Amino acid sequence: MDTYDVVVVGAGPGGYVAAIRCAQLGLKTACVESWRNAKGDAALGGTCLNVGCIPSKALLDSSHHYEHLRKHAKDHGISTGEVAIDIAVMQKRKDKIVHTLTQGIGALFKKNGVQWVQGHGQLQPGLEVAVLDQAGKESARLKASHIIVATGSVPAQIPPAPVDQQRVVDSTGALAFDAVPARLGIIGAGVIGLELGSVWRRLGSAVTIFEALPGFLAGADQDVAKEAQKLLTKQGLDIRLGAKVTQVLADADGVTVDVEIGGASQQERFDKLIVAVGRSPNTAGLNAAAAGLALDARGFIEVDAHGRTSVPGIFAVGDVVKGPMLAHKASEEGIAVAELIAGQQPHIDHTNIPWVIYTWPEIAWAGATEQALKAANRPCKVGRFPFLASGRARAMGDTDGFIKIISDAVTDAVLGVHIIGPAASELVAEAVIAMEFGASSEDIARTVHAHPTLSEGMHEAALGVDGRMIHL
Ligand code: FAD
Ligand code: NAD
Repeated sequence: MDTYDVVVVGAGPGGYVAAIRCAQLGLKTACVESWRNAKGDAALGGTCLNVGCIPSKALLDSSHHYEHLRKHAKDHGISTGEVAIDIAVMQKRKDKIVHTLTQGIGALFKKNGVQWVQGHGQLQPGLEVAVLDQAGKESARLKASHIIVATGSVPAQIPPAPVDQQRVVDSTGALAFDAVPARLGIIGAGVIGLELGSVWRRLGSAVTIFEALPGFLAGADQDVAKEAQKLLTKQGLDIRLGAKVTQVLADADGVTVDVEIGGASQQERFDKLIVAVGRSPNTAGLNAAAAGLALDARGFIEVDAHGRTSVPGIFAVGDVVKGPMLAHKASEEGIAVAELIAGQQPHIDHTNIPWVIYTWPEIAWAGATEQALKAANRPCKVGRFPFLASGRARAMGDTDGFIKIISDAVTDAVLGVHIIGPAASELVAEAVIAMEFGASSEDIARTVHAHPTLSEGMHEAALGVDGRMIHL
């Protein structure tokens, strides 16, 4: 039996980053990973690299270029003739990006001396991990001083809409369509519904999204949510709130969806239906309960603030534990647990994790919403700067949206930043740094921002907290 200081189970952004950090810190590390891609090849990188963040962003970028050429290039005086999209080429490009990046993790493992063990990891008593082959037969047994569980999550299912990956697909199926569905239904107006809905709408689908909740983007600041709903609807997403899908029937030609909205029944017909109703923690076949790991009511592995599970020596990070299901959150937890095992005292501020929705305009935020602060009776001040008043946004032709900075009414500490607009995913980094360093809105207002940039909007919104915007 091979022995290690650390065995990591799962090589998504939580597990592979944890494994690399452990090895950097001089710990003898193995990482067990079972993933096989559509071709049956073993691959590292987990959901994020194989069927999540990276392929979805590749398709978002391709479809953004397509829409820009069709609808906006002429504003710049560019004439293109007829613009066409070759879905096979677009998908090949996406697959190549995924292949390059997942191969890259293998190279990083080699460089850092992490041992990749291909197979399904199963926890065994006494800090051991049995590695099972595709037939379920034990192919290796690893003994560890510490185990990090980073087994991630899988798409959640709902009884009325069983996924067959033909007509009714989850996010993985929706990333692999080989043709543009003329009529696309989506259940769930969350992050995946809006991102993949945007991809296929840009490419020509008529997209209808059914959301169970009565409100749109309930977790976001409601100013941003309202603006997003308005803009995405104008782009052509048909978003139906308060929708209860009662039955989904797929046949050879399409899929029929029965839905109740406001007490009235409706029936809709689609070519494809995406089920995007959240993700569930993945502990399938891990032997978690038998190994003594406590799970919460929703199946997440219970951990303390340092990623320690109920079993001494076993840690867990990423989507399989509480908190937002985001790649960067998983990776930071992986690093923190590796450093803890190595005897350091790491810390993550879970209140300061940025969120991004890669629609266009993009939506991004960090910290508290105005509604949450009001509910907590926390007096605050707000500055809001629209991109319409930004010289750079005008030059780009991307003037939708705004930046909203919320600070404490007494101390002026920045409590939340909410952005809808071009490159919001990049702009939010300044907000995260400001809050990580305990900055006030006055600190941002007194920081020189380059001209002309979108980041000047942060500067103006910070000035706006004190009612002294220059350009509005
Ligand atoms: P995962 O990435 O799920 O990795 C877990 C790994 O563990 C998998 O490789 C799995 O094969 C392996 N595994 C599981 N059980 C075992 C076992 N018993 N033995 C061996 N291996 C095992 N997040 C963002 O931050 N930004 C985005 O833009 C973004 N876009 C997304 C788009 C889509 C379509 C989806 C589905 C998700 C997206 N996410 C995004 C979420 C992000 O992918 C996850 O939060 C992230 O991958 C979680 O990382 P993880 O390491 O915890 O788990
Ligand atoms: P989500 O939680 O963002 O959205 C799911 C939506 O489905 C919610 O609005 C929910 O109210 C709705 N819903 C649930 N049950 C329903 C039902 N029966 N009928 C109609 N609507 C229903 O989840 P998701 O969009 O599936 O994404 C899963 C996870 O992946 C998210 O937690 C997210 O963190 C992560 N992700 C992140 C990114 C990103 O960071 N840009 C992109 C994609 C996915």
